[in-house]
Amino acid sequence: MALTIAIANQKGGVGKTTTAVNLAASLAAAEKRTLLVDMDPQANACSGVGLDKASQEATVYHALLGQVSARDIRIRSNLDHLDILPANTDLIGAEIELVTAFAREVKLQGVLQDIAEDYDYIIIDCPPSLGLLTVNALTAADTVLIPLQCEFYAMEGLSQLMKTIRLIQKELNPRLSVKGILLTMFDVRNNLSHQVSEEIRNHFGGQVFRTVIPRNVRLSEAPSHGLPVLLYDIASRGATAYLELAKEIIDSGN
Ligand code: ADP
Ligand code: MG
Repeated sequence: MALTIAIANQKGGVGKTTTAVNLAASLAAAEKRTLLVDMDPQANACSGVGLDKASQEATVYHALLGQVSARDIRIRSNLDHLDILPANTDLIGAEIELVTAFAREVKLQGVLQDIAEDYDYIIIDCPPSLGLLTVNALTAADTVLIPLQCEFYAMEGLSQLMKTIRLIQKELNPRLSVKGILLTMFDVRNNLSHQVSEEIRNHFGGQVFRTVIPRNVRLSEAPSHGLPVLLYDIASRGATAYLELAKEIIDSGN
Protein backbone atom coordinates (compact mmCIF):
# COMPACT_ATOMS: atom_id res chain seq x y z
CA MET A 1 0.00 0.00 0.00
CA ALA A 2 1.22 3.47 -0.83
CA LEU A 3 2.57 5.96 1.67
CA THR A 4 0.67 9.18 1.02
CA ILE A 5 2.54 12.41 1.77
CA ALA A 6 0.80 15.81 1.68
CA ILE A 7 3.12 18.77 1.02
CA ALA A 8 1.41 21.54 2.95
CA ASN A 9 1.95 25.08 4.20
CA GLN A 10 -0.68 27.77 3.77
CA LYS A 11 2.03 30.30 2.93
CA GLY A 12 2.66 30.73 -0.77
CA GLY A 13 6.12 30.61 -2.29
CA VAL A 14 7.76 28.40 0.33
CA GLY A 15 8.64 25.58 -2.06
CA LYS A 16 5.62 23.26 -1.84
CA THR A 17 5.26 22.66 -5.56
CA THR A 18 9.02 22.52 -6.16
CA THR A 19 9.22 19.90 -3.41
CA ALA A 20 6.19 17.92 -4.61
CA VAL A 21 7.49 17.74 -8.21
CA ASN A 22 11.12 17.03 -7.39
CA LEU A 23 10.50 14.66 -4.51
CA ALA A 24 8.04 12.71 -6.68
CA ALA A 25 10.55 12.63 -9.57
CA SER A 26 13.37 11.56 -7.23
CA LEU A 27 11.28 8.74 -5.76
CA ALA A 28 10.44 7.62 -9.30
CA ALA A 29 14.13 7.76 -10.21
CA ALA A 30 14.72 5.38 -7.30
CA GLU A 31 12.25 3.07 -9.07
CA LYS A 32 9.49 3.67 -6.56
CA ARG A 33 6.07 3.70 -8.21
CA THR A 34 4.96 7.27 -7.56
CA LEU A 35 1.81 9.30 -8.10
CA LEU A 36 1.91 13.11 -8.00
CA VAL A 37 -1.49 14.61 -7.14
CA ASP A 38 -2.02 18.25 -8.04
CA MET A 39 -4.48 19.80 -5.57
CA ASP A 40 -3.69 23.42 -6.40
CA PRO A 41 -5.98 25.23 -8.88
CA GLN A 42 -2.86 27.00 -10.17
CA ALA A 43 -1.72 23.56 -11.39
CA ASN A 44 1.95 24.44 -11.14
CA ALA A 45 2.84 20.84 -10.36
CA CYS A 46 1.33 19.87 -13.72
CA SER A 47 3.37 22.43 -15.62
CA GLY A 48 6.41 21.36 -13.59
CA VAL A 49 6.25 17.97 -15.26
CA GLY A 50 5.42 19.35 -18.69
CA LEU A 51 1.63 18.96 -18.72
CA ASP A 52 -0.27 21.72 -20.43
CA LYS A 53 -2.85 22.70 -17.83
CA ALA A 54 -5.19 24.29 -20.34
CA SER A 55 -5.56 21.02 -22.27
CA GLN A 56 -6.60 18.83 -19.34
CA GLU A 57 -10.26 17.96 -19.76
CA ALA A 58 -10.89 15.61 -16.87
CA THR A 59 -9.00 16.53 -13.75
CA VAL A 60 -8.88 15.90 -10.04
CA TYR A 61 -11.78 18.37 -9.80
CA HIS A 62 -14.08 15.99 -11.70
CA ALA A 63 -12.83 13.10 -9.59
CA LEU A 64 -13.57 15.00 -6.35
CA LEU A 65 -17.10 15.58 -7.59
CA GLY A 66 -17.44 11.88 -8.37
CA GLN A 67 -17.83 12.35 -12.13
CA VAL A 68 -14.75 10.31 -13.06
CA SER A 69 -12.41 7.91 -11.29
CA ALA A 70 -8.71 8.39 -10.61
CA ARG A 71 -8.01 5.74 -13.24
CA ASP A 72 -9.79 7.86 -15.88
CA ILE A 73 -7.67 10.93 -15.27
CA ARG A 74 -4.20 9.74 -14.39
CA ILE A 75 -1.48 10.56 -16.87
CA ARG A 76 1.98 9.04 -17.43
CA SER A 77 4.75 11.58 -17.03
CA ASN A 78 7.94 11.84 -19.05
CA LEU A 79 9.69 9.90 -16.28
CA ASP A 80 9.38 6.14 -15.72
CA HIS A 81 7.41 5.20 -12.59
CA LEU A 82 5.82 8.65 -12.27
CA ASP A 83 2.10 9.30 -12.90
CA ILE A 84 0.13 12.50 -12.37
CA LEU A 85 -3.41 13.31 -11.30
CA PRO A 86 -3.77 16.67 -13.04
CA ALA A 87 -5.54 19.82 -11.90
CA ASN A 88 -6.57 23.03 -13.56
CA THR A 89 -8.32 26.22 -12.56
CA ASP A 90 -11.67 24.36 -12.34
CA LEU A 91 -10.45 23.25 -8.95
CA ILE A 92 -11.20 26.72 -7.54
CA GLY A 93 -14.86 25.78 -7.89
CA ALA A 94 -14.44 22.64 -5.78
CA GLU A 95 -13.89 24.73 -2.64
CA ILE A 96 -17.40 26.10 -3.12
CA GLU A 97 -19.20 23.22 -4.81
CA LEU A 98 -18.17 20.73 -2.17
CA VAL A 99 -19.31 22.89 0.73
CA THR A 100 -22.74 21.34 0.81
CA ALA A 101 -21.60 17.85 -0.21
CA PHE A 102 -21.93 14.90 2.14
CA ALA A 103 -18.57 13.88 3.65
CA ARG A 104 -16.90 16.72 1.78
CA GLU A 105 -13.60 16.33 3.66
CA VAL A 106 -12.98 12.75 2.57
CA LYS A 107 -13.51 13.08 -1.19
CA LEU A 108 -9.83 12.84 -2.10
CA GLN A 109 -9.35 9.88 0.20
CA GLY A 110 -12.08 8.07 -1.75
CA VAL A 111 -10.56 9.07 -5.09
CA LEU A 112 -7.10 7.77 -4.13
CA GLN A 113 -8.37 4.54 -2.58
CA ASP A 114 -9.09 3.18 -6.06
CA ILE A 115 -5.49 3.35 -7.22
CA ALA A 116 -3.39 3.41 -4.03
CA GLU A 117 -2.27 -0.17 -4.52
CA ASP A 118 -0.59 0.74 -7.80
CA TYR A 119 1.92 2.95 -5.99
CA ASP A 120 4.66 3.00 -3.37
CA TYR A 121 4.33 6.76 -2.80
CA ILE A 122 1.57 9.30 -3.40
CA ILE A 123 2.70 12.93 -3.17
CA ILE A 124 0.01 15.62 -2.88
CA ASP A 125 0.81 19.23 -3.75
CA CYS A 126 -1.48 21.49 -1.67
CA PRO A 127 -2.68 25.02 -2.46
CA PRO A 128 -1.54 27.97 -0.32
CA SER A 129 -4.53 27.94 2.02
CA LEU A 130 -6.04 25.82 4.77
CA GLY A 131 -9.34 25.49 2.91
CA LEU A 132 -11.26 22.41 1.88
CA LEU A 133 -8.67 21.28 -0.69
CA THR A 134 -5.88 21.18 1.89
CA VAL A 135 -8.23 19.55 4.41
CA ASN A 136 -8.99 16.86 1.80
CA ALA A 137 -5.25 16.36 1.22
CA LEU A 138 -4.52 16.03 4.94
CA THR A 139 -7.44 13.64 5.39
CA ALA A 140 -6.19 11.44 2.55
CA ALA A 141 -2.57 11.50 3.75
CA ASP A 142 -0.59 9.26 6.08
CA THR A 143 1.84 12.02 6.80
CA VAL A 144 2.52 15.68 6.08
CA LEU A 145 5.73 17.30 4.92
CA ILE A 146 5.95 21.03 5.72
CA PRO A 147 8.35 23.09 3.63
CA LEU A 148 9.67 26.15 5.48
CA GLN A 149 11.58 28.84 3.66
CA CYS A 150 14.77 29.86 5.46
CA GLU A 151 13.73 33.46 5.84
CA PHE A 152 12.50 35.85 8.46
CA TYR A 153 8.89 34.97 9.43
CA ALA A 154 9.50 31.35 8.35
CA MET A 155 7.53 30.09 11.33
CA GLU A 156 4.72 32.58 10.90
CA GLY A 157 1.52 30.65 10.33
CA LEU A 158 3.07 27.40 11.48
CA SER A 159 1.05 27.25 14.69
CA GLN A 160 -2.15 27.64 12.66
CA LEU A 161 -1.06 24.78 10.41
CA MET A 162 -0.21 22.58 13.41
CA LYS A 163 -3.61 23.38 14.90
CA THR A 164 -5.33 22.32 11.67
CA ILE A 165 -3.28 19.10 11.63
CA ARG A 166 -4.27 18.30 15.24
CA LEU A 167 -7.91 18.96 14.44
CA ILE A 168 -7.78 16.64 11.43
CA GLN A 169 -6.06 13.96 13.53
CA LYS A 170 -8.83 14.24 16.06
CA GLU A 171 -11.86 14.47 13.79
CA LEU A 172 -11.02 12.92 10.44
CA ASN A 173 -7.71 11.10 10.17
CA PRO A 174 -6.15 9.68 13.35
CA ARG A 175 -3.26 8.10 11.42
CA LEU A 176 -1.96 11.45 10.13
CA SER A 177 1.60 12.12 11.30
CA VAL A 178 3.98 14.98 10.70
CA LYS A 179 6.74 13.43 8.63
CA GLY A 180 8.77 16.50 9.04
CA ILE A 181 9.74 20.02 8.37
CA LEU A 182 11.84 20.62 5.29
CA LEU A 183 14.11 23.66 5.19
CA THR A 184 13.98 25.15 1.70
CA MET A 185 15.79 27.90 -0.19
CA PHE A 186 18.72 27.72 2.20
CA ASP A 187 21.45 30.17 1.25
CA VAL A 188 24.84 29.25 2.75
CA ARG A 189 26.18 32.76 2.30
CA ASN A 190 23.29 34.32 4.16
CA ASN A 191 23.55 34.58 7.94
CA LEU A 192 19.79 34.74 8.27
CA SER A 193 19.44 31.33 6.60
CA HIS A 194 21.75 29.85 9.25
CA GLN A 195 19.91 31.60 12.08
CA VAL A 196 16.47 30.52 10.89
CA SER A 197 17.62 26.95 10.33
CA GLU A 198 19.14 26.81 13.83
CA GLU A 199 16.02 28.27 15.41
CA ILE A 200 13.77 25.75 13.66
CA ARG A 201 16.02 22.82 14.61
CA ASN A 202 16.08 23.99 18.24
CA HIS A 203 12.33 24.24 18.23
CA PHE A 204 11.41 21.07 16.33
CA GLY A 205 14.47 18.86 16.87
CA GLY A 206 14.12 15.45 15.26
CA GLN A 207 11.06 16.53 13.29
CA VAL A 208 13.27 18.45 10.85
CA PHE A 209 14.63 16.56 7.83
CA ARG A 210 18.41 16.15 7.77
CA THR A 211 18.32 17.10 4.09
CA VAL A 212 18.24 20.85 3.48
CA ILE A 213 17.18 22.23 0.10
CA PRO A 214 19.58 24.96 -1.05
CA ARG A 215 18.54 28.03 -2.97
CA ASN A 216 19.50 26.92 -6.46
CA VAL A 217 18.66 28.69 -9.69
CA ARG A 218 18.31 25.35 -11.56
CA LEU A 219 15.30 24.56 -9.36
CA SER A 220 13.57 27.74 -10.45
CA GLU A 221 14.52 27.31 -14.14
CA ALA A 222 13.46 23.67 -14.53
CA PRO A 223 9.65 24.29 -14.45
CA SER A 224 9.82 26.67 -17.41
CA HIS A 225 11.17 23.70 -19.40
CA GLY A 226 8.43 21.46 -18.02
CA LEU A 227 11.02 19.24 -16.36
CA PRO A 228 11.79 18.06 -12.85
CA VAL A 229 15.28 19.29 -12.00
CA LEU A 230 16.85 15.86 -12.34
CA LEU A 231 15.92 15.77 -16.03
CA TYR A 232 17.00 19.40 -16.49
CA ASP A 233 20.36 19.39 -14.70
CA ILE A 234 21.12 16.22 -12.81
CA ALA A 235 24.46 17.64 -11.62
CA SER A 236 22.86 20.69 -9.94
CA ARG A 237 22.81 21.11 -6.18
CA GLY A 238 19.02 21.23 -6.34
CA ALA A 239 18.82 17.83 -8.02
CA THR A 240 21.26 16.33 -5.51
CA ALA A 241 19.28 17.71 -2.58
CA TYR A 242 15.93 16.28 -3.74
CA LEU A 243 17.52 12.90 -4.51
CA GLU A 244 18.89 12.96 -0.95
CA LEU A 245 15.47 13.85 0.45
CA ALA A 246 13.92 10.92 -1.42
CA LYS A 247 16.59 8.63 0.03
CA GLU A 248 15.97 9.99 3.54
CA ILE A 249 12.26 9.25 3.15
CA ILE A 250 12.80 5.78 1.65
CA ASP A 251 15.33 4.92 4.39
CA SER A 252 12.93 6.05 7.12
CA GLY A 253 11.04 3.00 5.96
CA ASN A 254 7.33 3.82 6.18
P1 ADP B 1 4.76 27.16 -3.36
O1 ADP B 1 4.27 25.97 -4.11
O2 ADP B 1 4.90 26.92 -1.89
O3 ADP B 1 3.98 28.39 -3.64
P2 ADP B 1 7.00 27.09 -5.20
O4 ADP B 1 7.56 25.72 -5.11
O5 ADP B 1 6.13 27.39 -6.35
O6 ADP B 1 6.27 27.46 -3.84
O7 ADP B 1 8.23 28.10 -5.14
C1 ADP B 1 8.06 29.50 -5.24
C2 ADP B 1 9.08 30.07 -6.21
O8 ADP B 1 10.40 29.85 -5.69
C3 ADP B 1 9.06 29.40 -7.56
O9 ADP B 1 9.37 30.37 -8.53
C4 ADP B 1 10.18 28.37 -7.49
O10 ADP B 1 10.73 28.09 -8.76
C5 ADP B 1 11.18 29.04 -6.58
N1 ADP B 1 11.93 28.08 -5.76
C6 ADP B 1 11.42 27.11 -4.97
N2 ADP B 1 12.39 26.45 -4.33
C7 ADP B 1 13.55 27.01 -4.73
C8 ADP B 1 14.94 26.78 -4.41
N3 ADP B 1 15.30 25.83 -3.54
N4 ADP B 1 15.86 27.55 -5.01
C9 ADP B 1 15.50 28.52 -5.87
N5 ADP B 1 14.23 28.80 -6.22
C10 ADP B 1 13.26 28.06 -5.65
MG1 MG C 1 2.52 25.72 -5.25
